[in-house]
Amino acid sequence: NRMIVLASRPIGMPTKENFRMEYSSIPEISDGQVLIKSIYLSVDPYMRGRMSGIKTYIDPFEVDKPLVGGVVGKIVDSKNPSFKVGEFVEGRLPWADYSISSGKNIRKIDPKLAPISTALGVAGMPGLTAYFGMVDIGKPKAGETVVVSGAAGAVGSVAGQIAKLKGCRVVGISGSQEKIDFLINELGFDAAINYKSNNLFSALKEACPNGVDVYFDNVGGEVSDLMMKLMNFHSRIVLCGQISQYNNTEIEYGPRFQGKLVTHSILMQGFIVSNYVKRFNEGYEQLGKWIQEGKIKYRETITDGLENAPDAFIGLFKGENIGKQLVRVVKE
Ligand code: NDP
Repeated sequence: NRMIVLASRPIGMPTKENFRMEYSSIPEISDGQVLIKSIYLSVDPYMRGRMSGIKTYIDPFEVDKPLVGGVVGKIVDSKNPSFKVGEFVEGRLPWADYSISSGKNIRKIDPKLAPISTALGVAGMPGLTAYFGMVDIGKPKAGETVVVSGAAGAVGSVAGQIAKLKGCRVVGISGSQEKIDFLINELGFDAAINYKSNNLFSALKEACPNGVDVYFDNVGGEVSDLMMKLMNFHSRIVLCGQISQYNNTEIEYGPRFQGKLVTHSILMQGFIVSNYVKRFNEGYEQLGKWIQEGKIKYRETITDGLENAPDAFIGLFKGENIGKQLVRVVKE
């Protein structure tokens, strides 16, 4: 049994030296437990925060202990009457070939409804994040202009499509021409802008001739500083993530834009998807319906091999993924 442990806490951009592969025998299960064979690992930006050793809404990872994240796997042994061998499950589990669960931290997934990998992306935690952030905080109304940063990623791609379904003009901000083409041609965004191009502000202004009513922010930093200038009266800013800041050793303090929140009655609200745990079923049902009806499309970037999980993780901060970044541990 192979597992990836945190070898040291990253300072700045994570490197491969922050991770290490360790080996153990396949764990034995006792009464009430199941043995899970990992198939897909979810690679998520929030894991960077857990590597830093600071407690936030979630405990930090421990050095020399396996990393833990979203995993889709198959039950290969069971001493728990609720789970049968051959069933697929999703849960927060170690980055390892095999893991044990009491059944409490896993949910069954139905491979007939959607590919099992989607339980980590569009039909899983990132999809729920987009759904609750957009619907509950952004509250987009038909005809409004909605801007999404980190738009071609797991959360952003779903958030933008939900705003399209609500009848909005949707503008994406992303980091490459390939992603811009994906947003416009495949996901039906009205416009998309590469934040690495020159004259970002004039491009944003041109794409949002009526200003911005909802800004769904995944990235923070300079992109979001510019967005402040375009926010309309009574607009909403959904703070979902600030990935541009995750590798900073010191927190940057931004310009003093709060005055605009006052004069324009702007709501700016952060959230964590787990705030909505009591409504997860509503989110799963709505997302499942939209996916089955073809109203929400998705892309996955799949890296093969548990040994390549650190590279896939580091790649998030270089924008290497389109849609959900996954690691395939074994072929199904
Ligand atoms: P993504 O699939 O969006 O992957 C990360 C993307 O971020 C990269 O592909 C890259 O795209 C972009 N990026 C990386 N570095 C920078 C930078 N310096 N400036 C701007 N963009 C950058 O990840 P997720 O969809 O999983 O997560 C998106 C955001 O949502 C993250 O901030 C994450 O922390 C947050 N999140 C929040 C949750 C919550 O409960 N609040 C739950 C889940 C995620 P590009 O090529 O465009 O640069």
